[in-house]
Amino acid sequence: MSSKPGLSRIVCAQCEQPEAKCWCEKFCVFCQSQTDVRLCTDGLMYCEACRTACEYKTAD
Ligand SMILES: [Zn+2]
Ligand SMILES: [Zn+2]
Repeated sequence: MSSKPGLSRIVCAQCEQPEAKCWCEKFCVFCQSQTDVRLCTDGLMYCEACRTACEYKTAD
């Protein structure tokens, strides 16, 4: 089975749940900020500033 690219299967690296079901404590893996942290396409959490700086995409 080949997995086609898409944003629908992005899950939290810790609990393997999609963002909507993830109840992990959310903080940025770079700077530990808890402000506007979102799950990104690599399954890790990033804050707004780090997402912008590194051009990470959120899961949705
Ligand atoms: Zn989680
Ligand atoms: Zn950050």
